Amino acid sequence: MSPTLSADTLILGAGIAGLRAAQQLQAAGESVLLLDKARHPGGRCATRRLTADPDSPSFDIGAQYLTARAPAFARAVRGWVAQGVLQGWSPRLARQSGPESWEPSSDATPRWLAPGGFNQWPRAWAAQLQREGLRLHCSHRVQALERLARGWRVHGSGAAYSARRVLLAMPPAQAAALLIPVAPQLCPSRRLAPCLTAVYAAPAGAADFDALFGDGAPLAWAARSGARPGARNGGASDYWTLHAGVAQSQRLAERDPQEVAAVLGDAFAALIGLAPAALECVHARHWRYARLPEGLGQEPQAVFDADAGLGLCGDWLGRGRIEDAWLSGDAAAQAVLTA
Ligand SMILES: Cc1cc2nc3c(=O)[nH]c(=O)nc-3n(C[C@H](O)[C@H](O)[C@H](O)COP(=O)(O)OP(=O)(O)OC[C@H]3O[C@@H](n4cnc5c(N)ncnc54)[C@H](O)[C@@H]3O)c2cc1C
Repeated sequence: MSPTLSADTLILGAGIAGLRAAQQLQAAGESVLLLDKARHPGGRCATRRLTADPDSPSFDIGAQYLTARAPAFARAVRGWVAQGVLQGWSPRLARQSGPESWEPSSDATPRWLAPGGFNQWPRAWAAQLQREGLRLHCSHRVQALERLARGWRVHGSGAAYSARRVLLAMPPAQAAALLIPVAPQLCPSRRLAPCLTAVYAAPAGAADFDALFGDGAPLAWAARSGARPGARNGGASDYWTLHAGVAQSQRLAERDPQEVAAVLGDAFAALIGLAPAALECVHARHWRYARLPEGLGQEPQAVFDADAGLGLCGDWLGRGRIEDAWLSGDAAAQAVLTA
């Protein structure tokens, strides 16, 4: 049997919420172990490369940009900008006005992203925390929680881990699967909606905008990778990340992602006045847990049951954005430290 590794707090999920909670707990002198099922930290701040060649074009297939409304998060963003990890992004923004028409958008909300791919930011952040002593174990899917006399043991695809407290920093459906057998009272009822995404190659210069808010039926978002800071040039092609709206994503969820991608590709081709055959799908992904449905949401918070030593954080405990994930992770660490 593999040995048990222990810490004051185990954080399950190394997305933005988990990283922020880990950072704050570690800064307060707690020993923290952060686990993630993926090969790298970042969660939905996800980037894919066209090929295995590190110089090939890359696309952000999850989060597209971040906004910073809360003063504490805005300060943190300024710090990353100063380090060159984040950069302001001012695309030529458009808004869809009909199935085959769009108009320029005057939306001037400040936006940031990570040069070279969104996942570079959580990776750089995690590397910095590791240099300061954080233990981060990736490729470890947590499958069950076991209650001990004092604390928890976590079972998964690698070593067993034990801790006085456990924070689940993951989408609510995934947290619920772990909580039902041991703490059903903490199971969240809220769920994230799915999002179908596709990346298409189009002839360079085919559209006179860099990013577009669609009407959601089916296209909710389109962004040209080459317009993002640090992007590698795609030569004769522009690469466009396309997202479907929530209703379409729910309706098409069980279908083959490639087949669904064609629905997005056809809508985008019609919008920019190209024949569908002029576009080529190079990637398709179905996010089962992507965003909070419009209209849901609250001031970001965390859940922590001090008696059980069990807590939850994530964007879904706010309004479903990166900023909310960071603030919720921050609130979870505060709750642990206060308790
Ligand atoms: C398509 C898409 C577009 C988006 N666009 C934007 C945008 O433009 N702006 C914006 O602000 N936000 C956007 N978001 C939302 C944004 O990505 C999230 O708000 C934020 O990344 C959530 O961070 P988190 O830490 O709460 O969760 P996550 O990023 O989901 O992190 C959870 C982590 O838990 C891990 N995990 C789950 N289960 C287990 C398990 N059993 N064992 C171990 N690890 C586990 C996962 O691997 C993951 O790394 C978008 C999301 C998607 C999907």
